[in-house]
Amino acid sequence: MSFLDALKTANIGRTKTAQIEDVDAVLKKDRLCFNDYLVLLSDAASQKLEDLAQRARLLTLKHFGKTIQLYVPLYLSNECDNACVYCGFNHKAVGKRLFLSVPEVEKEAEILYQKGFRHILLLSGEKRDKVTLNYLKEVISLLHKRFDSVSLEVFPLSEAEYKQLAACGADGLTIYQEVYSPTIYNNVHPYGPKSDYEFRLDTPERAGKAGFYRLNIGALLGLAPWQEEMALLGLHAAYLKKTFWQSQIAVSFPRLTDTGVGFKAPYPVSDRQLIQMICALRIFQPTLGLVLSTREKAELRNNLIPLAITQMSAESKTSPGAYSGLEAEQQFEISDKRSLQEIVKVIAQKGYEPVFKDWDRIFI
Ligand code: SF4
Repeated sequence: MSFLDALKTANIGRTKTAQIEDVDAVLKKDRLCFNDYLVLLSDAASQKLEDLAQRARLLTLKHFGKTIQLYVPLYLSNECDNACVYCGFNHKAVGKRLFLSVPEVEKEAEILYQKGFRHILLLSGEKRDKVTLNYLKEVISLLHKRFDSVSLEVFPLSEAEYKQLAACGADGLTIYQEVYSPTIYNNVHPYGPKSDYEFRLDTPERAGKAGFYRLNIGALLGLAPWQEEMALLGLHAAYLKKTFWQSQIAVSFPRLTDTGVGFKAPYPVSDRQLIQMICALRIFQPTLGLVLSTREKAELRNNLIPLAITQMSAESKTSPGAYSGLEAEQQFEISDKRSLQEIVKVIAQKGYEPVFKDWDRIFI
């Protein structure tokens, strides 16, 4: 059974019907089932946010200690054949396009290495005639020599292709379903390879079978009602944890920001709702990695460090070549523009340890 089968039979009605006494009962439990998680996503649970936050904080301390893992994104290309209506890279957007050659990638990566980063995330639009499998293999092999972790956030590939990339040293895959509602998915991905909902949904499973050690999923918050999306995202994370128990599963919380294409989030998510969903997911799945990027403001990121977040990006740029001064259209505007050193200082001031090098895996 794939996750698609589980998704088709999911009943998420409890997010709408739960009462405050249901929330109290769930918060007394040691282990939560999916229905309990739905209760924590409900409107009733929003009245108990302090209690959710306390529980989430204790569980995060228990399973992760006082650590925040830091990573940095590196964009390989902003060319794309897809038509995602919310993205500044969509093939109709008019900004400057750039595809980095392997030496240009190396130059960018060296700047990031010198800053202290050891976990790198490679991103690209979907342009298969340029970002070819061979290109990715060359880039990964090169960066694997310098970085302790090389993760990918590129277009979905086949299991056989993932196997080849894992053999070159890629260990992590980030792939957001963007939106779990098939109707909204079709509306915001009208054509292009990404319009295949099921192929995208199956992607983390193909990467898991290919041996990827880190699988990171997410939904683009603001495209659909958040409680429904978080319910299905939580179900997906729980499925991946159970199926790929040997891998590290993580969830990101990207909220729609200004992308320069004039798209406004139809279902905007407030800070309070973001905090509720993060705490609810932590309580449901205590060992999940939870990731917060520089899309969010510095103050909110600071406040979420002691609650449930375990991984953060820093000093991010969202266009190819930006670290070495090349100009190209960016994917979206970031909010937290602090330097890595500033972020490290804040993490330390909160009594947490910034982690640059992964302790889980030995590369040979
Ligand atoms: S979200 Fe990804 S696939 Fe969609 S247009 Fe942007 S870069 Fe291309």
